[in-house]
Amino acid sequence: MGGPPKTTVYLDHGATSWPKPRPVVDAVVDALTVHGASPGRGAYAMGLAASRLVHRARGACASLLGVPDLRDVIFVPGCTYALNLALKGLLRPGDRVVVSSVEHNAVVRPLHATSIAGVAVEVVEADANGLVDADAVEAAVRAAPTRLVVCQHASNVTGAIQPVADLADIAHAAGALMVVDGAQACGHLPVDLSSIGADAYAVSGHKGMLGPQGIGLLCLSPSCEPVPLVEGGTGGASSASPEQPSSRPERFESGTPNTPGIAGLGAAAAFLAKEGDGVRAREARLTARLHEAVLEIGGFRVLGPVPGEPRVPIVTMTHDQVDADRLAFLLDKRYGIAVRAGLHCAPWVHRTLGTIDKGALRLGLGWSTTDDDVDLVIGALRDLVS
Ligand code: PMP
Repeated sequence: MGGPPKTTVYLDHGATSWPKPRPVVDAVVDALTVHGASPGRGAYAMGLAASRLVHRARGACASLLGVPDLRDVIFVPGCTYALNLALKGLLRPGDRVVVSSVEHNAVVRPLHATSIAGVAVEVVEADANGLVDADAVEAAVRAAPTRLVVCQHASNVTGAIQPVADLADIAHAAGALMVVDGAQACGHLPVDLSSIGADAYAVSGHKGMLGPQGIGLLCLSPSCEPVPLVEGGTGGASSASPEQPSSRPERFESGTPNTPGIAGLGAAAAFLAKEGDGVRAREARLTARLHEAVLEIGGFRVLGPVPGEPRVPIVTMTHDQVDADRLAFLLDKRYGIAVRAGLHCAPWVHRTLGTIDKGALRLGLGWSTTDDDVDLVIGALRDLVS
């Protein structure tokens, strides 16, 4: 084990939020030390307590995200898994899918795999700020029979917020299903799935949701029935049958669950239900301040929506003299500021924005970001490019 990390300012919330709120840490510790039995299996007191813990966490997530029936909230190992389950579980050879040009590799790579297996993938170009144009998606959907429309709710590179509710309407009018990648939206935006109308909405538990890593959600509409990615033990009454149960959430939750992760995510959802409005207001204020200050320094291009337009708390930039990689290296080495440079697992959006060759520097703000953090990074960036 090395010493404590030297980072003093953490601005990589786009990758994962850090630190976690105290109630999240406490819930994980409690699951590891007190409620440590396997949920949904043993009928002894400890096993039942673990089952109740999972049930409560599912309820907290369902209530935060506006899912009326908590059985439609599936615990999965992460947003990547949720997207793989939705895409591979719904698409069959011969199907056609319409997708935006600003998707993360968590969408791009499963779609690439399905395209090799005979799914036609139609990519709709986003505009110069990385915003998806609903009219362009509608034209693509109408051009040929379409099984799925897939789009992110918010971009991990530009912070752009996409019109996913409009896209869901467009998909449904054409008899298609809507799959949304909510990794960067949940927690940072007030997400209400009952009004978005997605058939499958994938959630990352550890980013804006503030839960631990290794846990996420797939929220399904009642009629959306992907084929499970994994079959196995689900506990309960149907154990004698070799068939995977048809009931939710068991159908999609084979194997012993990540109970500490679920406990942490449940506590995070409860935390956000109470504190979310305040967290989001602070994130939005600090993001706007950072965005405007970076532009004032000179030489920087900030990707995505212009100041004043809505975005999640991500400010990604290139500089006309200094490469993003070098800036990230120096921010860490000289100032102890943690940021991420490169392509952010999202080459498509960098291609759309013309930043594929050198990538960009991403500052991801979050619930723990302070005015002092923002002052420090603005001062450091000014020093490094002057
Ligand atoms: N989609 C987007 C837009 C993301 O930013 C990420 C994480 N970088 C993912 C999907 C995948 O999330 P996870 O790593 O939690 O599986």
